[in-house]
Amino acid sequence: MSGKITLGEAASRMKESARGTVIFTGAGMSTESGLSDFRSKDGLWKNLDPMELATADAMRNNYEAFHAFYSRRFELMGDAKPNSGHKVLADWEARGIADCIITQNIDGLHAAAGSKKIYELHGSVGKVRCMDCGAPSAQGDFIAGTPCPRCGGRLRPGVVLFGEGLPQEEMDLSWAASESANVFIVLGSSLNVSPANGFPSIAARAGALVVICNKDATFLDNIAGYRTFDGIGKFLAELDEEIAKA
Ligand SMILES: [Zn+2]
Repeated sequence: MSGKITLGEAASRMKESARGTVIFTGAGMSTESGLSDFRSKDGLWKNLDPMELATADAMRNNYEAFHAFYSRRFELMGDAKPNSGHKVLADWEARGIADCIITQNIDGLHAAAGSKKIYELHGSVGKVRCMDCGAPSAQGDFIAGTPCPRCGGRLRPGVVLFGEGLPQEEMDLSWAASESANVFIVLGSSLNVSPANGFPSIAARAGALVVICNKDATFLDNIAGYRTFDGIGKFLAELDEEIAKA
């Protein structure tokens, strides 16, 4: 634990303005649900580099390997359950403490925990569509290799692949939320994926208190008013207790 203020002071700041807290989550948010970051070393898959498979290029030119990779990822995610941290965040939204969640995760665990206002910058596993006509389909149809019922085209996951742009509406809403945040909390992101990592800076420039909980150093640690390397579940439980006292 480090930073310029105490956890109790952060909790007071969260309570002083209704819905003024914006949450930003990355892969670390889901590790306590048993999901590893597929970009990490132990995320290697059948000796193939996931960084080569999670791409628009692989989808177009190596669909079989692309499909096998995402089918496996989706099956793993399907077994994962929201953890205690996801549940605290959903509870904060219901109680009017947190405004929204901006997430880099595609696993759908925030929604599964009951959060409603979620900006999924990298899409979501639940949103399968046709590569050709864009018609929505079920995740199970993608895994089964079923063609699009409308045009017979191949299905694709509704996630943002390397080589594709981020969804504009989510980006705009995340930008606006960051600018109006009173407290901006980063959970489990090393903040090294652009342009999403700009949101904490936007919030800080607009006067927000930035809180960072991540197991590794981030390049924005110097602007954090409160910084911890603790696990996310533990940190959120402690912060939740401080909010109850504040
Ligand atoms: Zn189609």
